[in-house]
Amino acid sequence: MTKVALVTGGTRGIGAAICKALQEAGYKVAASYAGNDEAAAKFKAETGIPVYKWDVGDFDACAAGIAQVEAENGPVEILVNNAGITKDGFFHKMSKDQWSAVIRTNLDSLFNMTRPVIEGMRARSFGRIIVISSINGQKGQMGQVNYSAAKAGDIGFVKALAQENANKGITVNAITPGYIGTDMVAAMPEEALKRVVAGIPMGRLGKPEEIAQMVVFLASDNGAFATGATFTVNGGQYMA
Ligand code: NDP
Repeated sequence: MTKVALVTGGTRGIGAAICKALQEAGYKVAASYAGNDEAAAKFKAETGIPVYKWDVGDFDACAAGIAQVEAENGPVEILVNNAGITKDGFFHKMSKDQWSAVIRTNLDSLFNMTRPVIEGMRARSFGRIIVISSINGQKGQMGQVNYSAAKAGDIGFVKALAQENANKGITVNAITPGYIGTDMVAAMPEEALKRVVAGIPMGRLGKPEEIAQMVVFLASDNGAFATGATFTVNGGQYMA
């Protein structure tokens, strides 16, 4: 039977590329988003993939949203926790709101989205949980103490949850993209972006599709032995 994949933040950027690649690989895909109805409608018209609006930072909204996705599509067997935001600023000037919004969307979301699906995955003895972390969770990035902390937290989440579920046919992995050409990166100041690209050995930004194919591998039967791992896709930037 066709497996159901749910991608958070699936209507734009990396998430949209993941949805399209999973659809092409034969999965029944559902995409969630936060508030950009226009982008979601455009994505749905282009792909035929159903879209669902809720905040991944809100546990009750996630539980209700997942229940709707499952009622309309079937049990979620592949969960891609991709939704994320930045709210940059030096830590000594960072507000509590900047901190909390980023932790909530990038880290709390992992609990909120994964908790409602994990029992079903365990009962069915199959599941794929894939988290889109970041190079900046591995190396730290000035101006992004909030984001670096959240994305490093994503990696800890993956390592521990993988151990708990390795004997249940469930794999849990993180992908750590380097800088990818999406709206998130387009929002960076031009000079900062130039410096970033100069630091990438390949001398270019990554493409969303280059992250999406790693997700397809991890979702597939060929990816079954990989769990608790962090897959770095960053154009050659060194990561210890
Ligand atoms: P975009 O800003 O292009 O897209 C973000 C997506 O997430 C949108 O669909 C957005 O919905 C959704 N989203 C944001 N907040 C919420 C929320 N609270 N609830 C539900 N959905 C939400 O981001 P990218 O594609 O660039 O990034 C995707 C992931 O990859 C993120 O986790 C990011 O941190 C990570 N990443 C990105 C890198 C990059 O260089 N771009 C590098 C490394 C990691 P809506 O359209 O409604 O706003």
